[in-house]
Amino acid sequence: MRLAVLGAGVAGLTAAHRLTAAGHACDVYERWPGLGGQAATLDVGDGHRLERYYHHLFTSDRDIAALYAELGMPAELEWRRSSVAFFLDGRSWPFTSPADLLRFAPLSPPSRLRMGLAVLWLQRTAHRVEPFEAETARAWIERAMGGEAYQKVWGPLLRGKFGDRADDISMAWLWSKLTLRRQIKGAEAREERLGYPSRSWEPLFAALRGSIEAGGGRVLIDRPAARLSRARGGGGLEVAAGAEGSFRRGHDPRRFTVGAEAAERYDGVVATVPNDVFRGLLDDELAGAIGGGYLARLAGIEYHTALCLLLELDRRFSPFYWTNVADRALPFVGLIEHTNLVEPARYGGRRFLYVANYLAPGHELLSLEPDDLLARYLPGLRRVNPAFDPSWIRALRLFREPAAQPIVTVGYRERIPPLRTGVPGLVLANTTQIYPEDRGTNYAVRLGGEAARALLAAP
Ligand SMILES: Cc1cc2nc3c(=O)[nH]c(=O)nc-3n(C[C@H](O)[C@H](O)[C@H](O)COP(=O)(O)OP(=O)(O)OC[C@H]3O[C@@H](n4cnc5c(N)ncnc54)[C@H](O)[C@@H]3O)c2cc1C
Repeated sequence: MRLAVLGAGVAGLTAAHRLTAAGHACDVYERWPGLGGQAATLDVGDGHRLERYYHHLFTSDRDIAALYAELGMPAELEWRRSSVAFFLDGRSWPFTSPADLLRFAPLSPPSRLRMGLAVLWLQRTAHRVEPFEAETARAWIERAMGGEAYQKVWGPLLRGKFGDRADDISMAWLWSKLTLRRQIKGAEAREERLGYPSRSWEPLFAALRGSIEAGGGRVLIDRPAARLSRARGGGGLEVAAGAEGSFRRGHDPRRFTVGAEAAERYDGVVATVPNDVFRGLLDDELAGAIGGGYLARLAGIEYHTALCLLLELDRRFSPFYWTNVADRALPFVGLIEHTNLVEPARYGGRRFLYVANYLAPGHELLSLEPDDLLARYLPGLRRVNPAFDPSWIRALRLFREPAAQPIVTVGYRERIPPLRTGVPGLVLANTTQIYPEDRGTNYAVRLGGEAARALLAAP
């Protein structure tokens, strides 16, 4: 068959790789002039590549580790010691090991004990998600660990991911975070190890691209899908591509100029774009064929935007890789000092700090230019490190990802759009379908495989 995949993120590239392996030539259309989607990298100098958004893997991320092995590059993945802190009450508290929890003074000793026991109980006995799907994480935590634990620890952690929707997040999401990721036995219990590919995520994208092209497919970057319709006569679907440079017009495909080439016909299409982009691609006839029920599911899932300021610094900012900012007076939710996970020598001595935020669409911080955003963040950065001075900054880059984080509220499972859209040969696979796990590159690999299988299965 002749197949198309829309989006060259991890899910799209994996889906195309699997479809190629099944013997089908596959064209991949990508809006951005590069591969990797949310995990895309940039050249930070002298050919050293780094993700636009902070990225690491957990030891539980087995699908992506298996993909590295399958592509003959298992040695790319390196496992490194992580260090986590909580910034609260004017200082950073180490928060990496269970012993750190016992020493976490912002929480009263009984609350610390209660919290530790509740997490242990979850990890030892709660093997199914279903009992956690009907209530919010807030309600569950306040009952099992007490109000103080929510106020000081879990509320801030959820705000770090879901902003002002933190209190509405389903306990199913937190259950998966707590039971999947952290092991309670062996070396992992004492110190968490995080994975990072030795030369960034880029070699993985290059290998997937190589596999797709070797199978007769094409990986077309800076060539978005602008329109998707049913082919007239003979079945199949048609993809009309947007002109080069369409990415400058934003994310809505209805704003792209359709390129000079005629629309191409395919026997099947896997779309890995966000829900709103997918909706924007459909012509009226195809939207009608998909039906109102499915389209309502797409519209019913909310996303928050990731706003990520990447600072290249001439010195270390903090001793930690990951700082959860629990003090609500600070206008950002996390500080991720990449070069405290991977040594600066890897980047010719350069050091990198991401200042992380997740915000509702339309939030005023999303419209700021890098320098203005830095000015807004500066007092907060100085609260964490009073010595910090803008003269430490060698380069400043700002990235915004509108469909970064689906908001996983109570009853989410019922709202997930199925992979199969109801139109034969058309599959949708995106981060809204990752559940109950937190979306991530590992699950994008799993989803890409599932999407390929869904397309190849009989309609
Ligand atoms: C701030 C941040 C931090 C993260 N940290 C981690 C982490 O530490 N570890 C981890 O594993 N994961 C992390 N993730 C999540 C991870 O990057 C994503 O879950 C994963 O990359 C999603 O892959 P995907 O292919 O499903 O979607 P995407 O990467 O969103 O891919 C969709 C692709 O579709 C393209 N597209 C859009 N419109 C069109 C169009 N009209 N035509 C063609 N193509 C189009 C997009 O450009 C994009 O390339 C993070 C994400 C963010 C935003």
